[in-house]
Amino acid sequence: MNYIGLNSPPVREERLGTGIAFGGTTCELRCAQKEGCINRANRAFSQTQGCQFTLSLGMLNSLRNAVTIMHGPIGCGACSIGSVGTSQTFKRLRDPNAEGLVWLNTNLNETDVIAGGENKLREAIRYADREFRPEVICVPISCVPSLIGDDVDSVLAEMQKETAATLIPIHCAGFKTKAMATAYDDVYHGVLRHLVEKPDRREDLVPDDLRDLRQKYQDSRTVNLLNVGSMSRQDETELERLLKAIDLNVRWLPCYSDAEDFRQALSSALNVSICGTHDDYFIEHLKTLYGIPFVIDVMPIGRRNTARWLLQIAEHFDLQDRAQQVIDVEDRELDAAFEQFRPALKDKRVFLGGGEIRVVATAEILQDLGMKVIGFKGHHYDRFAEPLFDSLEDVDDVLFDVATQQPFEQINLVRRLKPDLYIGHTGGGNLSAKQGLPLLPLFGPTYNYMGYSGAFDVARRIRRVLANGQFNKKIAQHCPLPYRASWYEKDPFHYIKDRQEPRGPAPHPAGD
Ligand code: SF4
Repeated sequence: MNYIGLNSPPVREERLGTGIAFGGTTCELRCAQKEGCINRANRAFSQTQGCQFTLSLGMLNSLRNAVTIMHGPIGCGACSIGSVGTSQTFKRLRDPNAEGLVWLNTNLNETDVIAGGENKLREAIRYADREFRPEVICVPISCVPSLIGDDVDSVLAEMQKETAATLIPIHCAGFKTKAMATAYDDVYHGVLRHLVEKPDRREDLVPDDLRDLRQKYQDSRTVNLLNVGSMSRQDETELERLLKAIDLNVRWLPCYSDAEDFRQALSSALNVSICGTHDDYFIEHLKTLYGIPFVIDVMPIGRRNTARWLLQIAEHFDLQDRAQQVIDVEDRELDAAFEQFRPALKDKRVFLGGGEIRVVATAEILQDLGMKVIGFKGHHYDRFAEPLFDSLEDVDDVLFDVATQQPFEQINLVRRLKPDLYIGHTGGGNLSAKQGLPLLPLFGPTYNYMGYSGAFDVARRIRRVLANGQFNKKIAQHCPLPYRASWYEKDPFHYIKDRQEPRGPAPHPAGD
């Protein structure tokens, strides 16, 4: 893979054949993906949909010693207010003196749509560089400047001559794609073009002294572990513990990193992803451009996934025996720890909604506890979820809704399936709370989900929420959902249409 010569990466619908609309069984979904027809379907009606501009901010707003200048109308990226606390707290876990989240918006208005927004962008860059003295200024470009033809790349190239900060354009206009996860490619594209640098080869001209040898040994045992915005510090601590147990060092990228971390990235021996949806663009390019090998397979949630993930990393360093010893010890401890939860959780029925990698990975913990997975809803679907099914049993007939947002489908589906528990993406839980269901967030900045300690913590919290369901029952009594009874009588996948099928008029569900 090599798209680095382009100003922006291709969208995922083209690069990966990503699908954003599907309703059927898990078996049918996986077959469609294998046959390459997953991205043929679309919706005749769309209630809400994700925007890649806002998702790109999840990564950009986490960078240390950086300022984000959102080039667009003031509303684009206003959701950043919700990540102010997490951004500052997590940055200070890396560096106690780190600044919190600093962002500006060029506030394009109707006049700028006619006259262009380039001057406002120049002014914002000068101000950010002078006022905050950051190492990096990232400029995510929203729909309006992309549509009116602002030449942001040229503006940034010209401004780079007069600014101390490294300027990085991020081409992430929301209208370009319905596969919101393209945002990760947009950010990594900017990072690869402007922050990742070839190592200084001058060191090869001088004889190795002891310090060089020690450093080289350290590097040969160091992995770049790629985190995601939904990971907590406890998740990071757990994965680092497992890698240290097999004598490996960890360098965290990209969230909460600074420019220097990216510059150092090329000296590590291996790139390790926990999520193909998040990282494939970055680590494939590091392999193509710099020859660094990578591991990209399963997300280490659930004991089988965690063991598989650890063994794949260990194999690269010929440390499989040591990794297996760690796995055996952890398995025994988890077995003993799970015993207290099994009687209360056995046969409870669960629906999971959120990122497709995460929901399928989390299902492994549920089956391990004797619970039943009865439905999935994933943001999109492509090949990266496939390896996770190896850890699951009997899910071929489980329904799978592929939908970025589209809450009306989830509401209908959940009402039919009648789960005992809903595990869902942050922001989706309010809907099922109004259906009276106990909820567990799919991720959270203060909770542990990954590795062995994460499996234990998920089990502990599921038992607690199932034992305390009264609050959401009260919410359901007093906070009705906005859909009419006639919508619930329809197939939840009623509006998913194959492209080849003729489309009639698409009535709004609330107006049926
Ligand atoms: S879709 Fe376009 S206009 Fe809307 S928030 Fe995203 S970038 Fe801004």
